[in-house]
Amino acid sequence: MKNILEIHDVRKYFPVKSTISSLFNPGKRIYKKALDGVSLHIPEGRVSVLVGESGSGKTTLARIILRAIDPDTGSIIFNGSNITRKTGKELLSFRKQAQMIHQDPYSSLNPLMKVFDIIKEPIDIFYKYYSKEERIKKILTVLNDVNLKPAGEFAEKYPHMLSGGERQRVAIARALVIEPKLIIADEPVSMLDVSIRAQILQIVRQLSINRKITVFYITHDLATSRYIGDEISVMYAGKIVESGQIDRVLSNPLHPYTQALLDAISEPRFDNIDKQKVIRIKNFDSAPAESGCRFFNRCPYSMEICKKEPILETKEQNHKVSCFLYDKNENGVQLSNC
Ligand code: SF4
Repeated sequence: MKNILEIHDVRKYFPVKSTISSLFNPGKRIYKKALDGVSLHIPEGRVSVLVGESGSGKTTLARIILRAIDPDTGSIIFNGSNITRKTGKELLSFRKQAQMIHQDPYSSLNPLMKVFDIIKEPIDIFYKYYSKEERIKKILTVLNDVNLKPAGEFAEKYPHMLSGGERQRVAIARALVIEPKLIIADEPVSMLDVSIRAQILQIVRQLSINRKITVFYITHDLATSRYIGDEISVMYAGKIVESGQIDRVLSNPLHPYTQALLDAISEPRFDNIDKQKVIRIKNFDSAPAESGCRFFNRCPYSMEICKKEPILETKEQNHKVSCFLYDKNENGVQLSNC
């Protein structure tokens, strides 16, 4: 399967504000490692999920892919072309093919513009040669595609006249209207009512299938990723700790962090009401380790060897994990029964 997007060993460190100890060591600047050697392959026409807690580096990665910020090192290959340092017309051409759906449908739409003009804006930038009739037809078509019907009526509304779910559909329509090859959806349902999250995810999933668009879905919520994803990568403290085909990873999670994320999902079933929840994690509040396995401080299985850096390696059928528990050469321990 062809990869539309390849991320190779991307690093991004942000300088941290001065602390008291750094005042006594002025030569020693402290950095937060937002991304620390991230490599990912996103197959064309599929929905790939990136899951991780807040602050794990997910949004930084999205911003680097879209060239809103530059990585310190590493490269981004889009459709076979290295876009890491592209500028000018080449960057514009990439941006025509890659669009973003943001988390907050309340602040991502201009409140002074009608829905029609909001969706027309990217056409005005990227398809200047379209006639007025072509523009109207395209706008009404995408409004229909995201189930904002009757499209003509919705086109005349302002954002404040819409619900959160309807606003997010407008944001999806705006991303779709220039027919991108890749959509990056950064927590697109996290600010919506639970009752309409599934509808929005269903729309994104269906559009990906019908229009053959690759979707990179970023979320902290493992529960929603099941509904939409084909592949999944799990990120912790700026590193990918597990990846693979989504059913395989969620039915047999290998990394202790993925296991803890799955433990934390609440299944709304009647027989769960009195069940004691067991989440396989220790020291909930402890920060990621600075070196070695970043999950060391929270991992219930940590060992001496985990002070070294584990490598993301394939264990079975493209299911990769970065954990010494599966490194037979090091200690021969297997965690599959945990
Ligand atoms: Fe836990 Fe060690 Fe695996 Fe890290 S490498 S997740 S500390 S067992």
